[in-house]
Amino acid sequence: MMNRTDHILTQLYSSEDIQKRIEQLSSRIAADFRAEEIDLVGLLNGSYMFLADLTRSLHAKGLGMRIGFLTLSSYGAERRSSGRITLHQDLRLDIRNRKVLLVDDILDSGYTLQFACSYLLERSPAVLKTVVLLDKPSGRRLHMEADYAGFSAPNAFLVGYGLDYGGKYRERPDICILADPSEKG
Ligand code: 5GP
Ligand code: MG
Repeated sequence: MMNRTDHILTQLYSSEDIQKRIEQLSSRIAADFRAEEIDLVGLLNGSYMFLADLTRSLHAKGLGMRIGFLTLSSYGAERRSSGRITLHQDLRLDIRNRKVLLVDDILDSGYTLQFACSYLLERSPAVLKTVVLLDKPSGRRLHMEADYAGFSAPNAFLVGYGLDYGGKYRERPDICILADPSEKG
């Protein structure tokens, strides 16, 4: 039976680091949207934990919101983006003329965020902004930047805080670098 010790994890951002950074991000977002009501669209599955903490932090700063989800995937069980994005579950919020903040866990090649932005723009929001907790600029394959980014991360495969590898490790409160399984001792 495979167990967690099959992968070597090295902590990159502690739970405290993440919560501090989310406080800073939400202060900027709340100031920019000026206590208006916004629609947050989380990309599942990876963004669920970030979205939960971000929404609580935005609430504490007086921002009202509706929350919806879009389920996309590009990775399957692989570590590299295929560039082919699949829509698994559609958004059930009507975002026409609304101020929308798209929330994702990590911006790497840019394919996912680009796909999600074009998809949402077809629904004619008044404003569309993007926030990612993690940005890996070295992984970029196309021109795409987030309006708000938490951490500029190294070019490594990350797990925890919603990010998985083959479905595992999402539940961790911290973010870790996953060593290549072939490197394990
Ligand atoms: P992109 O399409 O920009 O290459 O990647 C975005 C998506 O790929 C993210 O939403 C995330 O789900 C996944 N991804 C990118 N880098 C990583 C990583 O280091 N670890 C994990 N677990 N997922 C990643
Ligand atoms: Mg994702």
